[in-house]
Amino acid sequence: TQYVYRFGGGMDADGAPPVKSDAVNLLGGKGANLAEMANIGLPVPPGFTISTEMCTEYMNNDGKYPDSLTAEVAQGVAHIESVTGKKFGDAADPLLVSVRSGARASMPGMMDTVLNLGLNDETVEGLAKTSGDERFAWDSYRRFIQMYSDVVLQLDHDAFEEALEIAKEDNGFFTDTEMEAQHWKALVAEYKGLVEEEWGKPFPQDVNDQLWGAVSAVFGSWQAERAKIYRRLNDIPSEWGTAVNVQAMVFGNMGETSATGVAFTRNPSTGDAAYYGEWLINAQGEDVVAGIRTPQYLSKAAREEANAKPLSMEEAMADTYNELTDVFDLLERHYRDMQDIEFTVERGKLWMLQTRSGKRTAKAALKIAVDMANDGLITEEEAVLRVDPMALDQLLHPTLDPDAIRDVLTTGLPASPGAASGLIVFDSDTAERRTELGDDVILVRVETSPEDISGMHAAKGILTARGGMTSHAAVVARGMGRPCVSGAGTISINNETKAMKVGDRTLKEGDMLTIDGSNGQVMAGRVETIQPELVGDFGVLMVWADKVRRLGVRTNAETPHDCQVARDFGAEGIGLCRTEHMFFDASRITNVRQMILAPDEAGRRVALAKLLPEQRADFRQIFEVMVGLPVTIRLLDPPLHEFLPHHQSEFEDVAKAADVGVETLKQRANELHEFNPMLGHRGCRLGVTYPEIYEMQARAIFEAACEVAEKSGEAPIPEVMIPLVATARELELMKDVVDRMAKEVFAEKGREIEYLVGTMIELPRAALMAGKIAEHGEFFSFGTNDLTQTTLGVSRDDAGRFLTQYVDKGIFPRDPFVSLDIEGVGQLIEIAAERGRAGRPDIKLGICGEHGGDPASIAFCEKTGLDYVSASPYRVPIARLAAAQAAL
Ligand code: ADP
Ligand code: MG
Ligand code: MG
Repeated sequence: TQYVYRFGGGMDADGAPPVKSDAVNLLGGKGANLAEMANIGLPVPPGFTISTEMCTEYMNNDGKYPDSLTAEVAQGVAHIESVTGKKFGDAADPLLVSVRSGARASMPGMMDTVLNLGLNDETVEGLAKTSGDERFAWDSYRRFIQMYSDVVLQLDHDAFEEALEIAKEDNGFFTDTEMEAQHWKALVAEYKGLVEEEWGKPFPQDVNDQLWGAVSAVFGSWQAERAKIYRRLNDIPSEWGTAVNVQAMVFGNMGETSATGVAFTRNPSTGDAAYYGEWLINAQGEDVVAGIRTPQYLSKAAREEANAKPLSMEEAMADTYNELTDVFDLLERHYRDMQDIEFTVERGKLWMLQTRSGKRTAKAALKIAVDMANDGLITEEEAVLRVDPMALDQLLHPTLDPDAIRDVLTTGLPASPGAASGLIVFDSDTAERRTELGDDVILVRVETSPEDISGMHAAKGILTARGGMTSHAAVVARGMGRPCVSGAGTISINNETKAMKVGDRTLKEGDMLTIDGSNGQVMAGRVETIQPELVGDFGVLMVWADKVRRLGVRTNAETPHDCQVARDFGAEGIGLCRTEHMFFDASRITNVRQMILAPDEAGRRVALAKLLPEQRADFRQIFEVMVGLPVTIRLLDPPLHEFLPHHQSEFEDVAKAADVGVETLKQRANELHEFNPMLGHRGCRLGVTYPEIYEMQARAIFEAACEVAEKSGEAPIPEVMIPLVATARELELMKDVVDRMAKEVFAEKGREIEYLVGTMIELPRAALMAGKIAEHGEFFSFGTNDLTQTTLGVSRDDAGRFLTQYVDKGIFPRDPFVSLDIEGVGQLIEIAAERGRAGRPDIKLGICGEHGGDPASIAFCEKTGLDYVSASPYRVPIARLAAAQAAL
């Protein structure tokens, strides 16, 4: 295998594969684009790339390289030498190189780079002579020792910073630029002493040792903790590896005609079509990013707008600036996207050091995509493909003002995007009470349970100490569009004293707290938020997306408000309306409990009769919002124990309402105890054993539908869904109940309404038996939360403890509760879809798990030919865009 690929010097990237996307996989983004820029004639310092394949080998072989690599690298170095006319390690005219990481997906700042490599006690003298600039040579050498000690030798870099500070102080200097050659020279001596002291060996003088040390450090940095975290957050597989780029140095620190900078071809935060960037005279690349000196504006207009003094590049180096902006335009046309660019000017000569598609905010992404399509640079369909659906989240929730000061206490998981400030409360009752009084509150819990629904709804945001991205709190918060930070493990909560501790700080109930569900930050005090505007470009892009989309997009919602939000976001119906949430309401729970605790059917019917009008009102309100659209209603699903009273006073309330003794009730509650409620008496098993519950619900649905049809002239289309079916017979029995109620209601009301009865496919057996089940059901909705849980045998409420490690170790590419396990669970969906269609050719197929809002899962649904996906209201626009992308 060839591992080393050369670039630059007016020749093609030697042996680079012809297909560009392959080049990125093999050479990494940085390497592929350096080769590409060189190939289109831009000034790129020559170099070579060691492929990502080598990184994988290196990791799999305990850091050992194949024998062939030595010769290949030597050839690479020879290539640079022949283009530059300098020799690596030559004391008279030394070649210096940078050793840069570059993965397939850009991971800005995550991995390591070493500059000025090739300097030692001899070559530094040569560099001083050939450049005619002693100061520059020693400045470069001290930079090199510092970077190499940090990145390769992994010595504590504070000591180096400190030595520099002291050197400046001793000389009465304020800035690095005041340091002269002899000062740098003295510092180099000190640095070498530091290395020897801490590392136990002198700083490596052999340039080849330096090179191999740096190469290994770059490969090794792929496994650094921060790189791992970045990969996890951005779904970058760990087996991709990074490439290493070795490239001739060019110097921005050679005096006043030299400079370095970074630029975007358009504004990455607003998307405006204006050059955007920063630069520094007489500096090396790192100085700009690391903020060692305050960088200056690139364009005159930007400088004037900011009222800044130091000259812009446009003013200070007009010719080079014009040359640079020509390159910007050329690169944008070439890559047909906004570019993020690094450049260096060495004594008036411009060099390009990097280009890549620039990271941008969602707002900028939309504007740039729409602008470029309007300008004919890309097509409408490409514009649709350009915007990351998940990034739209940023536009759909309030966000923190990026300029505001943050007092960060700790960081948890970014469970539900958006930011919120409010007073700390530790229980749902207080959350509701204070909200009614007009306060904004943040609900802080160890973890939430279904009973916290109303408190979560009342709160502006939710913070939990335990639980993962798919914990109850996270799922519910996302569904409600509430910001949520979950699993903030360093917080300890004391419900007795109503206080929480983080580190050595204690916050009490009523203290102000801010959470940012987009990055997991938890902050003391209030941080100002900004309301996102749904700018015009958003609407334009959605229209383009809808033109190409095949999959329908519905929503998971059970309150009229959520239904309205979803409809405004373009939902084409409800894919999942969970009825149990309606039962937790404080005014009803007593009746629900009475029903559950009743000793017999007659007792249950008494309680159900009280629930009927309330349930009917729920459905009527939802139908009114969703008139003309299909509404899938799932009959009662959770294990009954979730509704049971916990406190003495609650038992007393129920006892009074049901007119029985408290002790009898408690005994009945004990009888209902289950060892494994998620696999227990729940779903259609409730309907089979207590058909009167489903009767009441079906009656409420049809009565409400008739009332809405009567009033508005247009009927909703109820789709009654039976949960947790494993066998055809279960569905047959439950469908009989629903049909019977429909018939009764239609006879009473003197009107018929179109409706469907179907089931959720959420047990592996149901997927396998889909052919038979389809004989009794007119639609399937894949309940992929439970289907994942039951197929993997992993409880989603307990998975948080080990799933992160499972993802780190490559057991699952992503959290299977967030992104569908296509390989495994996906097979069951394919089987069920195929067998379901065989049993009933016109069967309607949809998905209503959390995965219905996940772009990768949506792509799978498109491929499998499902009819629709259903996502939480705030994910509807995301699903519309992802569905469009999947169709392209
Ligand atoms: P990162 O991915 O952190 O940006 P880079 O590999 O791009 O790391 O390099 C860090 C800085 O060093 C950048 O500003 C880059 O422009 C600069 N740099 C890298 N290689 C060279 C080189 N051969 N000559 C001059 N500057 C360089
Ligand atoms: Mg860079
Ligand atoms: Mg389920």
